[in-house]
Amino acid sequence: MTAVTPGLVDAHHHLYGTLARGMPAPPRTPATFRQILEQVWWRLDAALDLEMVRSSAMLGALEAIEHGTTAIIDHHESPNAIEGSLTVIADACAQVGVRVLAAYGVTDRRGADGAKRGLEENRRFLAEGGRGLVGVHAAFTCGDDTLAAAAELGTESGVGVHIHVAEGPDDVDAVARLARLTRDDWLLAHSVNLTGDHPLRGTIVHNPGSNLNNAVGYADPRRFTNPVALGTDGIGADMVDTFRLAHLLHRSVDVTATPETAWDWLATGWNLVPEARQDRVTWSYDPMDPWHLAFTPGVRPLRVEIGGEVVLDEGVATRVDPTEIRAKAAEQAARLHAAL
Ligand SMILES: [Zn+2]
Repeated sequence: MTAVTPGLVDAHHHLYGTLARGMPAPPRTPATFRQILEQVWWRLDAALDLEMVRSSAMLGALEAIEHGTTAIIDHHESPNAIEGSLTVIADACAQVGVRVLAAYGVTDRRGADGAKRGLEENRRFLAEGGRGLVGVHAAFTCGDDTLAAAAELGTESGVGVHIHVAEGPDDVDAVARLARLTRDDWLLAHSVNLTGDHPLRGTIVHNPGSNLNNAVGYADPRRFTNPVALGTDGIGADMVDTFRLAHLLHRSVDVTATPETAWDWLATGWNLVPEARQDRVTWSYDPMDPWHLAFTPGVRPLRVEIGGEVVLDEGVATRVDPTEIRAKAAEQAARLHAAL
């Protein structure tokens, strides 16, 4: 039995994190979310070069179509390989056949020059016709001038800003600092530490697996009036699995919760990337409805059609060689891990 659905949307991904698996343990065990950023992600992103960025994007894009995800909203940082990085990611995704909205996460954590170069990469990519948003790492790593410049670039370019908001306790000031900048086309990733009555505009992206992994607490998206979408925050792009985690977390605080709520969050992805609605995924399972999928692990796509083209057939990518992508990714991961 098979069933067909539109393509799924991962509303917050970090393709560059795909090569992090198996990386050497940091010198000290991180004990807080801030230390996880400092000792894992900010060391990893600093070691990336464009070849690694390309390889991580190829593998991440391949894994997306292998899970029926036809559109990725990516948030990228590679502070020692900024220029051209968004084009590298867009090209890698195009080669595999998956849709991507790219963004470079601007930050002042490496000085004003780093922020300027990040903004310029967003500007260049969007001006050249690239599909994406303006990326900002988070308010707590940016000065007010940088936040204002990113918001302005978004307005000028006709796109929203993709930013982490209140993921950890370091970023609770984000509410006051972003209150006059946000618009409905912004993407607010995480929002764990926002109150239900916060004034920020935009779609909140809930990342249940990542939040569990970082022990940042339950974001409880029910309390927001904003639209809510689902993302993986760099841990693969399996959106059926992410829906299931979102439901289980919801259920952990409310035994009357139904899977329809998390399903609605997953469906918000189609408002962010409407073309994904026209993509076609044929699944190994029928019916693809929330009540079945909440309790049926291991459902997988047999065939994926994106923009009318078959990119996965009988479970195997058609436009690229998956074995070759995985072999290259292993090589680049070894280089990256050695650099750490
Ligand atoms: Zn993130």
